[in-house]
Amino acid sequence: MSHSAEAKAQYNFNKLQKRLRRLTGQAVMDFNMIEDGDRIMVCLSGGKDSYTLLDTLQHLQRVAPVKFDLFAINLDQKQPGFPEHVLPEYLDKLGIEYKIVEEDTYSIVTDIIPEGKTTCSLCSRLRRGILYRTAKEMGATKIALGHHRDDMIETLFLNMFYGGKLKSMPAKLMSDNGEHMVIRPLAYCKEVDIEKYAERMEFPIIPCNLCGSQENLQRKHTKAMLAEWNKQHPGRIESIFTAMQNVVPSHLADKDLFNFKDLQTGDVIDGGDIALDKPDIPKQPALDDEHISDVVTINLS
Ligand code: SF4
Repeated sequence: MSHSAEAKAQYNFNKLQKRLRRLTGQAVMDFNMIEDGDRIMVCLSGGKDSYTLLDTLQHLQRVAPVKFDLFAINLDQKQPGFPEHVLPEYLDKLGIEYKIVEEDTYSIVTDIIPEGKTTCSLCSRLRRGILYRTAKEMGATKIALGHHRDDMIETLFLNMFYGGKLKSMPAKLMSDNGEHMVIRPLAYCKEVDIEKYAERMEFPIIPCNLCGSQENLQRKHTKAMLAEWNKQHPGRIESIFTAMQNVVPSHLADKDLFNFKDLQTGDVIDGGDIALDKPDIPKQPALDDEHISDVVTINLS
């Protein structure tokens, strides 16, 4: 690589790193994800998202005004071919506290689920139970997961298409029994940025198909649909994500969320009266990477 090409690559990498750090900091603040004295358990699968999460949270720990602890955890599910040495070597080098939990969920899942059927839902349920138990044992106050903006958007559409619900993947969530707070600090980060970052950082990625389960087909289709939309209409993904942060219950149809029954003449409803207007759909601008981040940040502030 020539000197100027190297300098350009370094410049682009710095911009990318800054963007990921800024958006993570913004999400952490907006959702009040991290508080003084927190002990955060970072779930590390060995995929690009969880490595980026750990790296970005470690940076935040160095610069944030609040003091918090981090430790990493990996669940070795005993999938055939799982390279057991990769994560301990990486984490030893980082010098961070960590725990590898060994639980043979692979055998449980393959024993129970008939061959050819998808194993992911049972596998994730088992994994969730183990992570919650470990969080308790390790005295974690929060559990951090590496899901990002595109996971959230895909989940929104999956729930609409297959679940009949307008719901996504929350940036902050309390477990059903009220014991565990789950946070997703990469909620504002784009998958494509994380991909580039992981590649440049040379994270030792562990393949995610070791269990042999087929990638969830519905998620794959939804991903492809969104990618196609974005190709045809640049800026559409950003617009969808902005919409997820601008919900107007009075203009949907959920009778439990908005009291349509008791709506009286004289009530003024936030969201505007458009009953007699033509829908005013703003034109979608074609946005480049940098502007997209700026728009997202502006919309979040
Ligand atoms: S892909 Fe494999 S490891 Fe991942 S959730 Fe599905 S069954 Fe479990």
